Amino acid sequence: MIHFFNTLSGQVEAFKPIEGNKVRMYTCGPTVYDFAHIGNFRTYVWEDLLRRYLKFRGLEVTQVMNITDVEDKIIKASLQNKIPIDEYTAPYIEAFFKDIDALAIERVEIYPRATHHIKEMIDLAVCLKEKGYTYETGGSLYFRISSFNDYGRLSKLDKRVLRHGARVDSDEYDKENVQDFVLWKGKKEGEPFWPSPFGEGRPGWHLECSAMSMKYLGETFDIHTGGVDNIFPHHENEIAQSEACTGKKFVNYWLHSSHLLVDGEKMAKSKGNFYTLRELLENGYRGRSIRYLLLATHYRKNLNFTFEALKQAEQELERLDDFRYRLESEKVVAGMNERLQEKIREAESEFIQTMDDDLNISGAIGVIFKLIREVNISYDRGEVTAGERDRILSLLRSWDRVLGVIERGREFIDEDIEKMIAQRNEARRNKDYGTADRIRAELLSRGIVLEDTPQGVRWKKR
Ligand code: AMP
Ligand code: ZN
Repeated sequence: MIHFFNTLSGQVEAFKPIEGNKVRMYTCGPTVYDFAHIGNFRTYVWEDLLRRYLKFRGLEVTQVMNITDVEDKIIKASLQNKIPIDEYTAPYIEAFFKDIDALAIERVEIYPRATHHIKEMIDLAVCLKEKGYTYETGGSLYFRISSFNDYGRLSKLDKRVLRHGARVDSDEYDKENVQDFVLWKGKKEGEPFWPSPFGEGRPGWHLECSAMSMKYLGETFDIHTGGVDNIFPHHENEIAQSEACTGKKFVNYWLHSSHLLVDGEKMAKSKGNFYTLRELLENGYRGRSIRYLLLATHYRKNLNFTFEALKQAEQELERLDDFRYRLESEKVVAGMNERLQEKIREAESEFIQTMDDDLNISGAIGVIFKLIREVNISYDRGEVTAGERDRILSLLRSWDRVLGVIERGREFIDEDIEKMIAQRNEARRNKDYGTADRIRAELLSRGIVLEDTPQGVRWKKR
């Protein structure tokens, strides 16, 4: 049974969906005012791991990720650039989808945009107003946090630090400012606005996620995720808005991932200590190794980004590629290897046990490499049979439905390269060593290294 650490209870809990084997999950998505950095992608890659693992365990996932396309920073930038917000955000939305493809992040079912759900947000604000949770001042509508008893439960805020009557308008604020927050912001000169019963204006950021999650997933759903920085105020405010209106529990399991750090500090746009994915790709790093680096540390541990670690990730993937190549190309023997069969069975169940334990990915990767060591020993002794080889290959494929990094080794050896290796073999058989060397050099220039072994030609990515 899958277990998760639930921020709401502060405990590891067994996961049980509301409805049979269906999981409804909401994920806070990007604010498209700029390119996302790899800190953001640490969170998105982990959320992808979570999604893939739920599916691996036979659950049916409906996931929503919002696109925040109206917000303080977007408005500021669009005013500076003198273009409408949707024109300003369009290239960043496109870049976001390109980036998630490069990282093999699966597309979720629904990507609602904030600007397409203004009506739902207004409806929710009206509901809160009618139930007495709000007040209007200066043309804006605020949520009165003292009117919602459970405020602070998620982020474990002490009620005494609540500053009654103080208000905040900006979308983001820190833990020191536990204040009434804005639901609807009165129109300001030059800014985009929509009509509403509270006057012309625009929605606050928090309102967006409550309105869109409940629209697509219902008033109560299974899982809500984000980075730890979303816990307060964003998720606390989402709970207040949703539960105050519906009178029902909003979300059963709240999961939050820790940050990607640089030199011990959170990677953030505002600090300037960030790398975008495209920067790394342009410098020759592969999406596959970046994914692996971001994925391989348990999500509730901080991960310090270094280029050293990225190179190590690349090397570990090479070991995986080498291993798969060995499975696909090395001779096997007849019969059956009982000991190895047992090791495979063990690995298969250990992988699940480990991942069931709050997605212990580093443990699960350990299980894979332990099996690789066992199998390599058996190969060295000439003790691998076709039966084991096929089981291991299919096990790797099934694990890769979770990891999304193993099969992608394929992209580096396309049909062309296979053909060239065959031509080189042919040339060597004909003792045409000039041609054989030319082909080897040509492959080398594409980053493919050939090794002549007694078992035949092996290739490696340089
Ligand atoms: P934002 O666009 O700032 O709202 O962030 C989008 C997502 O990225 C949120 O879930 C954040 O929690 C997450 N995030 C932002 N910075 C980092 C970081 N340095 N490490 C991990 N996740 C982050
Ligand atoms: Zn959100």
